[in-house]
Amino acid sequence: MHASAPLGRFWRSADAPGAPLGCELCPHRCSIAPGSQGLCRVRFNEAGSLVLPFYGALSAAAIDPIEKKPLYHFKPGSTVYSVGYVGCNLRCPFCQNHHISQSTGAARERVSPKDLVAAALASGCPSLAHTYSEPLIHAEYLLDAMTQARKAGLYNVLVTNGCVLETPARELLALCDAANVDLKAWDPLWYRSELGGELETVKAFITLGFELGVRLEITTLVIPGKNDADEDIRAMAAFIADLSADIPYHLSAYHPSYRYGIEATPPSSVRRLAALARESLHYVYPGNLAHERADTLCPSCGHVLVSRLGYSVSTAGLSGSRCARCGAQSPIRA
Ligand code: SF4
Ligand code: SF4
Repeated sequence: MHASAPLGRFWRSADAPGAPLGCELCPHRCSIAPGSQGLCRVRFNEAGSLVLPFYGALSAAAIDPIEKKPLYHFKPGSTVYSVGYVGCNLRCPFCQNHHISQSTGAARERVSPKDLVAAALASGCPSLAHTYSEPLIHAEYLLDAMTQARKAGLYNVLVTNGCVLETPARELLALCDAANVDLKAWDPLWYRSELGGELETVKAFITLGFELGVRLEITTLVIPGKNDADEDIRAMAAFIADLSADIPYHLSAYHPSYRYGIEATPPSSVRRLAALARESLHYVYPGNLAHERADTLCPSCGHVLVSRLGYSVSTAGLSGSRCARCGAQSPIRA
C-alpha cells in the first residue's frame, strides 16, 4: 500500500504476528492494526511495521513575519520560512486549520529535508518554522529537517500543541531554537474530552523545552465560557511564571471556526484576562485584536524596545539585545 514510505521511529512491535503495533509518539499510544492508521491519520501499520506515507508531504509553504507564529521575543521583525503538514493528534472543534489538520487530502508531493532546507536558505529567512497544522506527529521528518537546518545555520522554530511523549520531545526540543506552544486550557478533563489532548503532557513538554534552553512563548486561545475562568488563566500564568516570569504569554481572541459557533471573544475580555496574567508574568500580549498595539517595554526604564501594530514591527528601541536608551539587557533575542 505504501511501498516507498519510510519507516517510523517511536513505536513498539506487535506482541504476535498480525496483532496491532503500538505507536509511542504521543499520549494517545495508538494501538494500530495491520493496514490501519493511528488517530492522527499519518502513521500506518504496514505488515507489522510503522510507516510514514506522509513523510515530507507539505500542505503549505510561505514566508511569514515571525510575529505571526506568534513569536515576539525571538528575532523580532524577521521573516520565517514556514511549512505545514497534514493531520493532527488533537481534534479541537475551533481549529482554524481543520482542512489540513483533520484530513490528509491537502498533502502535496514530498519534499526531502535537504530540499526543504535549500528552499528555506533560498528564501533569505534566518529561520525555518514547522507550523500551521500539528508538526510533531511528523517527528521523524522534523528531526531530519531540523538536523540539516541547524547545520546550514538556520534557526529551528516549532509551533505546536506540545502533545508528545518525553523521548521524542527531548530529541525535538534539543534541535529547537524557539517554539510557540499552545496551553489550551487548565481543566484536564476538558482538554481530554473536548480536544483529545493531555494537559500533563503539554506541561511536561513546556517544562522540558525551558530546561533545554528553547526560547519559549505560550499561547492560549481564549474561548468564552470554555477555558476563560479567572482562576484558570491565573493558574496557567502561574505555571509559566514558575519556569520564568519572562516567558511571553499570548492570550488570543477566539473567532468562530470549524465546529464552534460561539461568539468571538470580546476584546475587553482578553484585555481583562491579560491583566490577571500580568499578576505573575512580565510579558503578556493580547492577540487577534485589530488595531491593538502589542509593544515590548524595557523592564528597566520603560522605553519601547519593540513596537508592534499588527505585523508592522519596529525594533528601533533595541541596540542588539539591549535597551537603546538605558542599556539594560532586554528579554529579546535579537
Ligand atoms: S502520534 Fe498518531 S498514531 Fe502515534 S499515538 Fe499519537 S495519534 Fe496515535
Ligand atoms: S492542535 Fe492545532 S492543528 Fe490540531 S486540531 Fe487543535 S488547533 Fe487544529
